[in-house]
Amino acid sequence: MINYDLHIHTEYCGHADGMMVERICRRAEELGLRTIAITDHIYGPDSLPVIERIRADIAAAKPKLKVYIGAEIDVDSDYTDGRLAADIPAGLDYVIAGFHFVPTLGHYPWKIADRRLDEQTFLELWEKSLLGVAGLKGVHVMAHPGRMLAACMDLDIYFEHGLSVLAKAAAVSAAKRVAWELNELTMHRLAPRWQIEWYRIYQVALDAGVKLVFGSDAHTLEWIGSAPLAEKLLEKLPKGCLSAPEDIIG
Ligand SMILES: [Zn+2]
Ligand SMILES: [Zn+2]
Repeated sequence: MINYDLHIHTEYCGHADGMMVERICRRAEELGLRTIAITDHIYGPDSLPVIERIRADIAAAKPKLKVYIGAEIDVDSDYTDGRLAADIPAGLDYVIAGFHFVPTLGHYPWKIADRRLDEQTFLELWEKSLLGVAGLKGVHVMAHPGRMLAACMDLDIYFEHGLSVLAKAAAVSAAKRVAWELNELTMHRLAPRWQIEWYRIYQVALDAGVKLVFGSDAHTLEWIGSAPLAEKLLEKLPKGCLSAPEDIIG
């Protein structure tokens, strides 16, 4: 059983009802988790103040488990080099880089029709951005690698190509010591067949020497620590390949 969760949102993001920091801490304690990271969305410099609100809430909640203060900082879709949309503020324990928006267009894609770029252009921008994100300074982990590809392209046709790009990204991440996240929420959005194949992305990461960590990407209390698909995926990878929070956060 995975006894930590390094990707949890709060009500402050506007799309995570009921996720007050105190309730998150109590829920995590109830579940017997050892460590969590509270990692709300940072879309740009304007969202940075939320970090201090969360820090104060954690102090007030007096959690009995280890709670890291983190953030999921978005990749800046105005650029194609994978840079983040805000500078990483001092004093953060844990930084997730979240690649959510289509480069150059800036919208959030749910399905292939949302790509709004021809396949070739999209693949070039995805690769360029991903290779940038994979090696960002000050970032501990890349959230949900492969998610943008899964949202925008037909995996039946492009999964192998995607894996070859991810292998390049893994080499970058290994050199720059950026871990990759097993993201429960992203796996739930995949078709069943791809939920089964998704472990190959993490095999590519391990082969390159990239560390793996778990994050549920909880936006509801029930989702905290929930890892059914991540645990299934781990059965297909070498035993003990999931890192502990201390290995990444240090
Ligand atoms: Zn969110
Ligand atoms: Zn998230």
